[in-house]
This record gives sequence, structure tokens and C-alpha cells, in this order.
Amino acid sequence: MKINSKHFTVEEIIDGVWVTIHTPGGSHICNSGIIDMGDETLIFDTGLCMESANDLRNTALELTNRIPRIVVNSHLHNDHFWGNSIFHEAKVITTRENVRITEPKWKQDGERSYNWAKGAIEEARRQLDSVSEYEREYAKILIGYLSGVIDTGLSIEYKTPDVTFDGIMSLEGDERSVEIIEYRNGHSESDCVLHLPREKIIFTGDLCYIGYHPCLDLGDPMNTLNILDKLKVLEAETVVPGHGFIGDSGAFDDMKEYIRTLVDLVRVIVSNEGTQEDAESIPVPEKYLGLQMKDFLYKRNLGCLYRILSNVSNDKRKE
Ligand SMILES: [Zn+2]
Repeated sequence: MKINSKHFTVEEIIDGVWVTIHTPGGSHICNSGIIDMGDETLIFDTGLCMESANDLRNTALELTNRIPRIVVNSHLHNDHFWGNSIFHEAKVITTRENVRITEPKWKQDGERSYNWAKGAIEEARRQLDSVSEYEREYAKILIGYLSGVIDTGLSIEYKTPDVTFDGIMSLEGDERSVEIIEYRNGHSESDCVLHLPREKIIFTGDLCYIGYHPCLDLGDPMNTLNILDKLKVLEAETVVPGHGFIGDSGAFDDMKEYIRTLVDLVRVIVSNEGTQEDAESIPVPEKYLGLQMKDFLYKRNLGCLYRILSNVSNDKRKE
């Protein structure tokens, strides 16, 4: 088998279920699932750029001997659905709520991301010369992201998903069945996970990250804590996050602990009437020094929690 992409590596979880793990410096950005259902091939999340999505399509074709005809998007942020247009034979499925919220903004968000990426890539290239290995790795990941946005951001043809659902949807294949389950107000307004109950595997999209700082400021981090409890109840043994490495259900506890740790740190700043800037300069706790994407996400997470917690305490003061 000859699968070679600069954007990801392919890992087989069990016979018929694969994940592509994003390669730092590549432009796929998210992890994607390839599921052989027996009579159809399903792709979970199509990545950020056309080139990597084309590699994903070819990989699926080579592994399953079939052109993928089902695509499921965990949510409609660029790094999970910009690759959709490569899968033109496929029926695209996602939640109704995510389409309703994001579709009116796709074009505008795409142009904004493109302009930002054009301006940011030179600085990111300079960071490649950083002394620390961590910073160089970060620069690599960022450049992969920015290049993907620049390559695809203006040329993408947006297409409304073919099938939308609320709550839960089951897909029965000849040899394998999957459930797609929606959770509202987590990483985004509406995310869905791909659950293989018999195989005890779950693809979480961005409701869970492993080895990376999560992105908390596009949704509701407090409600994400409840969602992580619900994901744990599904009793999956293999957890594939939207970003990072394959893990087990301990990842849900780790992610909860991350959110709670940051909440506790920010709460101290809020109760001492500190500013958002004070919150954003809290150093990374030692246990999270190894997580990737600190520069991109950690400060944003602190700022988001500060806004949530200071509103709560303002409301309390008003009572
Ligand atoms: Zn993502």
C-alpha cells in the first residue's frame, strides 16, 4: 500500500477504520476519519485545503477500493469542511443548526481568513529560526495552516450540505453502522461526533483535543464540561480528537481538568478585580507546558474565560 501525503499520516484503528493524523507543516489541520461501512465509504471531516482533501480522497479510495460517497462534517469551521468540494460524488451530512449559523458567514469568513493569513505568514516564517524547538514546531504548524488558508480561501466553492439533522442520526452499512450525535453549545453552537458503538470508537471533532491546547473561545466552555461527561457515558475505548493524537476516554477527563484549571486561575484574577489583560498573562500551568498551540490558543482561552467569569460576577454584584 502506497499512501504518501505531506499533510497527514494514516493510522489504522481496526480493520476498516482509519484516521489521518495531521502532520505539522501540512495543511490538512484536522484529523479525518475513513470508515469502510461494507457497501459505502464514509469520510469524517475533510480538512482545510483542496490538496490535502484530494490526498484524503485518494487514500480512502486506495484503502477501501471505493470512492467515498458519504461525508460527515463535525462542524463547519474552515479546517473541517473546506475540503468538501473535492468529494463531489458524496452526500454531505452535518447538523441543521451548524448550517443555519455558519452558512451566511462562509464567504465573508473565508475572505477574512485569507487576508489575515496573507499578512501573518511572513512573521510565522521568521519564527522558524527560533531557538526553542517548541516555537519552531509551533511556527511549522502555523505556516501549514496559513498556507492552507491562502491556497484554498479564495478559490473554494461553498456547497450547502445535502442532508442535515437534529439530535442523532444513524447510518447502517452492510458491515458497519455508525451514529452521528449532535451536542449544542460546546466547541461551536452545534458539533457532532461520529460514534461506532460496536467498535467502541468515537471521532469527537473539536469537542476534544489531545496534546494540543483546545480552542474554547468559539463556543461555550462551561457547557463543554457537561458535553464531555456525556461523551464519557458512550464508553468508547478509542477517542480520535479533532486535533492531536489518538487516545482513550481519559482524554475527556483531561480536557475537563484543563478547562477547570483555567477557570480557577481566571477566577482569582476576577475576584481581585483584575483586567482581561491580567488574565491573559497568567503563565501556562506546568502540567500544560507540553501542549502544542500555546501561542495561538492559550491566551484566547484565558480571555474568553475572563469575559464569562467577569460577566457572572457583575451579574452577581447587581443582584
Ligand atoms: Zn478544528
